[in-house]
Amino acid sequence: MGATISSAAGENAISNALADVRARIAAAARKAGRDPASVTLIAVSKMHEARAIESALAAGQRHFGENRVQEAGAKWPALKTPNVRLHLIGPLQTNKAADAVSVFDVIHSVDRPKLAEKLAAEMAAQARRLPCFIQINTGREPQKAGVDPTEADACITACRAMNLDVAGLMCIPPVGEQAALHFAFLREIAKRNDLAQLSMGMSEDFETAILFGATHVRVGSAIFGARA
Ligand SMILES: *Cc1c(COP(=O)(O)O)cnc(C)c1O
Repeated sequence: MGATISSAAGENAISNALADVRARIAAAARKAGRDPASVTLIAVSKMHEARAIESALAAGQRHFGENRVQEAGAKWPALKTPNVRLHLIGPLQTNKAADAVSVFDVIHSVDRPKLAEKLAAEMAAQARRLPCFIQINTGREPQKAGVDPTEADACITACRAMNLDVAGLMCIPPVGEQAALHFAFLREIAKRNDLAQLSMGMSEDFETAILFGATHVRVGSAIFGARA
């Protein structure tokens, strides 16, 4: 009985948090003079259990983000329905490219030509053409994944030449810096390369990201609570 009550409470908390995040997205979009429907909310469920994901699914959430191929491959086959879209938002090793292509529907973390090449080959082999975002290391942080901004244009051109479906760009601003500067920078690189989609903004800064043109926001803790 106790377990039932507490899981119902958990489900309520997630559904309330989702409603709150959706309302904030809509308000930010309107403030930017944009259609709220132009922003896709990706609920980042990494490190959260199936039960939490089921609550989000029950609340109508359809786009989810995971940062590890192995974790997603273990959790999602039992949960996924045809209208759910799974986004890979974490760094990808080339030896996991085949699994990534079969488990995910969108890849946000293409960060080097060698990986792009491997993904393109796997997509051809599996007859699955996944939209991809190229991750740009806008803060040029040595420990962070992403293409150096000075190599962005060349990398985008190379990925397109591999017949990868390059949908847009992704970034994770450095902690402690003004995210807005990084969002504006990413938007500028996308614009000059004729890319329409921007994956940027997390729990702390998704409203700012929307003001700067984010089409995909990746929100975890504001929906599911703190991760262990
Ligand atoms: C974990 C993660 C998020 C979500 O972060 P929150 O602060 O919990 O919203 C977004 N993007 C990436 C790449 C992540 O790894």
